[in-house]
Amino acid sequence: MKKILVSGGSIAGLTLAYWLHKYQFEVTVIERSAGLRLGGQNIDIKGPAWEIVKKMGLAEKVRAANTTEVGIRFVDTNDKIVAEFPKDNAISMTQEIEILRGDMVNILYDEVKDTTNFIFGDEIKDIVEQEDGVKVTFNSRDEEKYDLVMIAEGIGSGTRQQVFGNEIRYHYLGLYCAYLTMERAGTDSRWARWCNAVGAIVFLLRPDNYGKTRTCIFFRSPERGYEKLSLADQKNLLIEKISNVGWEAPRIIKAIQQTDDLYFERVSQIKAPHWYRGRVCMVGDAAYCVTPIAGKGTDLAIAGAYILAGELACNANYGDAFNAYERRMRPYVSRVQQLPPGVPRLAYPDSKLGVVILNSFFALAGSKLAKFVVKVFAKNKKEPKQEIHLPDYQVF
Ligand SMILES: Cc1cc2nc3c(=O)[nH]c(=O)nc-3n(C[C@H](O)[C@H](O)[C@H](O)COP(=O)(O)OP(=O)(O)OC[C@H]3O[C@@H](n4cnc5c(N)ncnc54)[C@H](O)[C@@H]3O)c2cc1C
Repeated sequence: MKKILVSGGSIAGLTLAYWLHKYQFEVTVIERSAGLRLGGQNIDIKGPAWEIVKKMGLAEKVRAANTTEVGIRFVDTNDKIVAEFPKDNAISMTQEIEILRGDMVNILYDEVKDTTNFIFGDEIKDIVEQEDGVKVTFNSRDEEKYDLVMIAEGIGSGTRQQVFGNEIRYHYLGLYCAYLTMERAGTDSRWARWCNAVGAIVFLLRPDNYGKTRTCIFFRSPERGYEKLSLADQKNLLIEKISNVGWEAPRIIKAIQQTDDLYFERVSQIKAPHWYRGRVCMVGDAAYCVTPIAGKGTDLAIAGAYILAGELACNANYGDAFNAYERRMRPYVSRVQQLPPGVPRLAYPDSKLGVVILNSFFALAGSKLAKFVVKVFAKNKKEPKQEIHLPDYQVF
């Protein structure tokens, strides 16, 4: 039985652990944090991810964890509704299956916790490839030998750096984002609210299914390395950034001061010329982050994990398996990483006038006439082709 180490215990790593175990591999997941990282806003499960979730027998659990968001409202800094798009509108951000990222991580963890070895609060220090395996040393435990190592450490992966070095390119999209959770207030409802503020800032507040409000702050900025700051410095930076912009900033500042689960990231795509080297292979955001703007990070992480495990199961040689995984996934990733011109810059105006113009545009898009046209187009639109072929790996 092949012994596989998966580094990173989130969507990609846990999905991979599930399928590898199904195919009789012996799996260990190492997660740097002391426990599962459960922060973040909604992720939508659709397309290939939904097909795979169904294959895993998790459809009902995922449906039951729906955040119950009914749609999205664009509001100005006086909290006046500029436009609203209910869930069933073709251009609404709210999808049929919206689930908190943390709930999805918990659902996946429940499926694998009895069949997978878990190591929390440690990480890989060094990897040395040998003829018959990979010798892995850790920060705080004895070294161990594995047949293969999978990197599922997300966008900021450190092990990726060790193995692939300067080959990896961050394509920075000119935005930083921060996620945190707030207590619900009287202004919150089942609608998500999007508010543009002067200074190229966007607030996105979304209801969750626990009576709280999931909050995201995006702001445009040249690349400054903010993601590497300490938590305290990230908090100060955010507070300074939003302190004079109005709307619900005072409430959000209070929440920033109180939280110890702030996820702060530069919005960047990861471009890697190769996803594997020798016995080490990457999956999910570590290999091909598309950013929350593309809205498909979860799709790619789940589809990638499913295909990688399936190919390992049906190829005798790991090199052939990695190659087949990359061949199947790469065209899909390339399509998703192709953003329309002006995205995301146009959605983050800096000046007061820019914000007014953008809100007028939202108002127009949300007008009855525009919604009617979208509905007609959506009705006549052909069913999209399957986004990626998901082989039925019958190798149990
Ligand atoms: C806390 C958090 C909140 C997020 N919130 C959102 C959100 O609101 N909306 C959205 O679209 N996307 C969010 N994301 C990103 C989203 O989860 C991914 O884009 C997508 O689901 C792909 O998942 P992934 O498993 O590849 O990466 P990630 O979900 O980023 O998971 C990577 C995992 O690897 C762990 N890790 C990192 N380095 C190491 C290391 N050296 N050794 C061991 N483990 C390591 C991390 O702690 C994390 O658990 C968030 C990610 C995190 C970690």
